[in-house]
Amino acid sequence: MTTTTPALIADSASSGFRHGTIEQRDLRPDDVRIDVAYAGICHSDIHTVREEWGTAHFPLVTGHEIAGTVAAVGDAVTKYKVGDRVGVGCLVDSCGECEMCRDDHENFCTKGSVGTYNDQGYDGEWTTGGYAQQVVASERFVLGIPEGIELSQAAPLLCAGITTYTPLVRWGAGPGKKVAVVGMGGLGHMGVKIAVALGAEVTVLSQTLSKEEDGRAFGATDYRATSDEQTFKDLRGQFDLILCTVSADLPVDKYLRLLKTFGTFVMVGLPENPQALHFGSLIMGDKVMTGSNIGGIKGTQEMLDFCAEHGIGATVEVISADEVGDAYDKVVGSKVRYRYVIDTSTITPAA
Ligand code: NAP
Ligand code: ZN
Repeated sequence: MTTTTPALIADSASSGFRHGTIEQRDLRPDDVRIDVAYAGICHSDIHTVREEWGTAHFPLVTGHEIAGTVAAVGDAVTKYKVGDRVGVGCLVDSCGECEMCRDDHENFCTKGSVGTYNDQGYDGEWTTGGYAQQVVASERFVLGIPEGIELSQAAPLLCAGITTYTPLVRWGAGPGKKVAVVGMGGLGHMGVKIAVALGAEVTVLSQTLSKEEDGRAFGATDYRATSDEQTFKDLRGQFDLILCTVSADLPVDKYLRLLKTFGTFVMVGLPENPQALHFGSLIMGDKVMTGSNIGGIKGTQEMLDFCAEHGIGATVEVISADEVGDAYDKVVGSKVRYRYVIDTSTITPAA
């Protein structure tokens, strides 16, 4: 049995989105049905639907930054009740039994975690994301959104928030540490806000100075343009930690030179192409280069609570369903300030 819900559907990598309806499973005992209020547009949605990361499964409904309220719960659900403010991020299932799941790293489930969209659940059904009026997920993957955060500003935390929070905490962003955030889009602006809230001294490295005022308002104490070669001379050897959110090709060695000895460069951006690296950039100064993938469910709840405690939400621009195509182009052109969030009430059942 299934239930029908209006959604924005892509039929191919080049089709854009159309209004339509999709089928969602009726509630299993541990399922929560969510009335989606807002769905953030993550650059990963764009990489996926445009098949920059490989073949996608169409028809496709993207969206893994989902915020709304509980519409219904299955018989065995204990964590949530109808009306609760909740969110869903990038994951909707994992085995729950392996070492990774037991250690709250569901994102690295050895059986394979199930992505919110463009993935097959353990039942073989393809998953569909948050550009829809409802989503269904097991309560294990549903997060509570604290009262202090507006739903529209909370939605992007479910991916951009946790993806920046995880490495900042893991690699010690805090008092006495100098952190650079490279790229100030959806992830980057959350990286700045969270690193500042953790107590670090934050510099933004952006292509131009056009967003400097915003970066400083988010709490950065320095803001430099990477289009200016002088930036790389001035900041050589300055940072304990660099969090890179860039979605495009990057001269990696230049950025590694900005680290202090023993410093760490964390990549969260996932550009389409492989990038070149000169190992000397790591060897000279015992530097660490690593990646980071979203985070587990426990960490995501911790991040939401941290953001509420520190009065942090995403800086968003709420758009209607018909503006999604235009918004995608603006994100790719680095024109987003700083996350587009779809008001899902503007999705209609048919074109
Ligand atoms: P976004 O809003 O488009 O931000 C990316 C930023 O990168 C832009 O705002 C821009 O910053 C910078 N940038 C873009 N093109 C550039 C270029 N040619 N040269 C230098 N800088 C450039 O995207 P997002 O949603 O934050 O996502 C960023 C990346 O992270 C994407 O690749 C996405 O798929 C990936 N991601 C990874 C994870 C994970 O788990 N690791 C999770 C979510 C997303 P400035 O305008 O400030 O220069
Ligand atoms: Zn994302």
